[in-house]
Amino acid sequence: MVKETTFYDVLGVKPGCTQEDLKKAYRKLALKYHPDKNPNEGEKFKQISQAYEVLSNPEKKRIYDQGGEQALKEGGGPSGSSPMDIFEMFFGGGRGRARGRRERKGQNVIHQLSVSLEELYKGTVRKLALQKNVICDKCEGVGGKKGAVEQCSNCSGTGMTVQVEQLGPGMLQRLQSICTDCQGQGERINPKDRCKQCSGRKTIRDRKILEVHVDKGMVDGQKIVFGGEGDQEPGLEPGDIVILLDEKEHEIFKRNVNDLIMRMQVELVEALCGFQKVIRTLDGRDLLVTSLPGTVVKHGDLKCILNEGMPVYKDPFTKGRLIIQFVVNFPKAIEPTVLPALEQCLPPREEVMIPDNAEECMLTDLDPEQEARRRDTRPAYEEDEGGPSRVQCATQ
Ligand SMILES: [Zn+2]
Ligand SMILES: [Zn+2]
Repeated sequence: MVKETTFYDVLGVKPGCTQEDLKKAYRKLALKYHPDKNPNEGEKFKQISQAYEVLSNPEKKRIYDQGGEQALKEGGGPSGSSPMDIFEMFFGGGRGRARGRRERKGQNVIHQLSVSLEELYKGTVRKLALQKNVICDKCEGVGGKKGAVEQCSNCSGTGMTVQVEQLGPGMLQRLQSICTDCQGQGERINPKDRCKQCSGRKTIRDRKILEVHVDKGMVDGQKIVFGGEGDQEPGLEPGDIVILLDEKEHEIFKRNVNDLIMRMQVELVEALCGFQKVIRTLDGRDLLVTSLPGTVVKHGDLKCILNEGMPVYKDPFTKGRLIIQFVVNFPKAIEPTVLPALEQCLPPREEVMIPDNAEECMLTDLDPEQEARRRDTRPAYEEDEGGPSRVQCATQ
């Protein structure tokens, strides 16, 4: 039990979720609310980053789970990491932050690409139209006529200005800030000499179509990198375009690495007397599943079909398992007159010895949801128990 759930709520996960769930939740939200995409959601971005930073760190998570945000503040205090630091650490750097002018490589641009499980099964090529900055071809990235570029007089071309402030007798503080005259560029172009095509900006926006090859067996969160396809800037090596795959949830199949997991509903008569069912695969084939008469399928039983799971990335002829979890639908009631005949077919009951002083009780229905609210934890007898989530744990 945790003291408070605010951080979990911010990320949309439940306490007790795996680190994988946590990463996935952070990844989706961080990209959605990144200031580049959503400049008005800075506060939200900060909250997401803070929540992720705490919950992804076992020690901080333990403190938070036990004592909430207050305990976190008392023990150690907030970390020095900014939301951008956390973002860059997670996505592998090179993005989002204004970098020093002397840095050689431009920023990476991350795009999320939503793909279906079918696409990840079969592989596909997706075309993605992007806008990016390219060096202006009219002025070749100069921004104006040759010789029109002057050094900024305010900062002597450094792009930075230094202010010295006296804090007290003999105590001076140097404050460095970006030059406001040239916005840190270190140079200026006379307005009348500016390149007409790029208005002196040196780059123009261009539309670019990327062909993204989604290979069989790729996974959620996998990166496809287009080296040097990021925004161009004079004097800088362009950064990369990074495509981040986002696997859409499938109606029937849940994925666990290379295994697929599905639930199969069978009627009680089928569970007892055998059945045939058809499963439509992700590439559109039909699999016929037979439970022979004489075998009984129990509620919650797990069976699997080998080699009908997801293809293995870079080894697509090898496939995982298709795991089937059976859900047996019991009838609501049975006509009492048929019971004797039914009893005859079933294994006999065990005789019960009733002691003389036994007290007679009533059985009442219990609402699992209400129970969950009362205890603030999931009850052990909930229908989900033993469902796909447990299969995941067992096969990990
Ligand atoms: Zn130009
Ligand atoms: Zn300047």
